[in-house]
Amino acid sequence: MQTTILEPARSVPVVHSTGVLVVGSGPGGLAAALAAARMGVDVTLLDRFGCFGGNITVVGVEGFAWYRHEQTIEAGGIGREFEDRAKAMGAAVPESQSLSYELDSEGFKLVADRLVEEAGIHPMLHRHFVAPIVEDGTIKGIIVESKAGRQAILADRVVDATGDADVAQRAGASTDKTPVEQMQAASVMFHLAGVDKKQFMAGVRADPMTYSDWSSGEWTVETDGKEDKMFSPFLRKPFEAAQKDGLIPADLNTIGGTWGAVHDSGEMTYMNLVHLAGCDGTDPDSLTQFEIEGRRQAMMAIDALRQYTPGCAGVRLRNFGMSIGIRDTRKIIARYDMTEQDVRGQGRFDDSIGIYPEFIDGYGILILPTTGRYMQIPLRSLLARDGPAGLIVAGRAIGGDKIAHAATRNMACCAVAGQGAGIVAALSLHRRCALDDVNITEVQAELDRQGVRWQ
Ligand SMILES: Cc1cc2nc3c(=O)[nH]c(=O)nc-3n(C[C@H](O)[C@H](O)[C@H](O)COP(=O)(O)OP(=O)(O)OC[C@H]3O[C@@H](n4cnc5c(N)ncnc54)[C@H](O)[C@@H]3O)c2cc1C
Repeated sequence: MQTTILEPARSVPVVHSTGVLVVGSGPGGLAAALAAARMGVDVTLLDRFGCFGGNITVVGVEGFAWYRHEQTIEAGGIGREFEDRAKAMGAAVPESQSLSYELDSEGFKLVADRLVEEAGIHPMLHRHFVAPIVEDGTIKGIIVESKAGRQAILADRVVDATGDADVAQRAGASTDKTPVEQMQAASVMFHLAGVDKKQFMAGVRADPMTYSDWSSGEWTVETDGKEDKMFSPFLRKPFEAAQKDGLIPADLNTIGGTWGAVHDSGEMTYMNLVHLAGCDGTDPDSLTQFEIEGRRQAMMAIDALRQYTPGCAGVRLRNFGMSIGIRDTRKIIARYDMTEQDVRGQGRFDDSIGIYPEFIDGYGILILPTTGRYMQIPLRSLLARDGPAGLIVAGRAIGGDKIAHAATRNMACCAVAGQGAGIVAALSLHRRCALDDVNITEVQAELDRQGVRWQ
């Protein structure tokens, strides 16, 4: 069989030109676009799907700040605004384990639309980034594919907020992809209808789970000790019972996790119960296989909930997320890659663009920020060590080691990095300088103006 084909060169229509182009609209990209637009530059926000919000709206990840406790110190800024606006628009409910609000994944689509519209951002949905336009070492825009075919969008600055560093990688920046066998698990998320909330909550109160319950059998989670006795909306017992009774195969160790919010209407959302190891989020064949397997396992989980969980006898699947949820793929090799020491040891940096509490969740570690400890995020972690000028990264693909990623991948941290990236991109346009040459004092003054704590 032929192994490659040569694509003929073709001319591609330029359909749009902008100051700052943000590719990807998750917590990182949405925050970047808003921050830049609020500095008066011309901003375009592009996504491959039909809504903004990334994992919040596409996957159904609703726990935006489930780490927040009384002593937690945070950046505020656009991340906090997501919660406040969602609350004001009836798209958030109190989160069960923290002093925060859980975002409603459907309602947040409207929240994001409103924020984008109010900021005067040019929206471009249903376009898949496929190639960068790089001339003389500088990124000049991107090529997208859509129902309209192949199109070019020109831009003075590009923010890569795809989560997977798609733009940076294809533009020649060095990236680091976690080996598949070490990647954090992927999850097919779902929402339920038909829960008897009273009965369910009575069951939770009668047998409350804690974070120490996350460790059992093959699953072990390192904590600081202070987390162990704290309540966690965790579910494993129904699945263990189902395994004993043969409803779930005894050797399947992928079902177990957390429930999100139970609504008075009988919906239970953000069911984070299926954890699939070995899924490579940059490989469409792997994604295909795990989407199908994840749905199959979600239905087993629902059967088990029906049988063994108070208040769940009448539950049915309301919906799956629009896509499997991917936690871990590529990150840029940055001017400075954040380290485990930075996230565990309150890292401090002269080029801080925002702070994030000491919250680490991933690779078998769970540290909750109940003490007021926090780290700073350096601007250098948003800038690739190599690759074209004019490109900055926001969201979970910023540079760092595995444990650093377990902190920086969290949505509120992605929003901090995003807001910083947007400010730096806009400032570099205002000052007609390279992204590297922005004056950090001016960046930090703008962070102050936008209500972001950075020190
Ligand atoms: C199952 C699951 C549960 C999680 N639970 C939590 C939690 O409880 N709390 C928490 O804080 N974090 C959680 N996370 C992590 C968090 O959701 C992500 O790390 C975070 O959303 C990353 O934000 P981002 O902006 O970098 O990217 P994303 O949210 O992934 O957004 C990227 C956007 O880019 C778009 N995009 C990607 N590629 C292209 C392309 N080629 N062309 C055009 N558009 C593109 C996507 O459509 C998407 O809209 C969870 C993650 C998963 C998968």
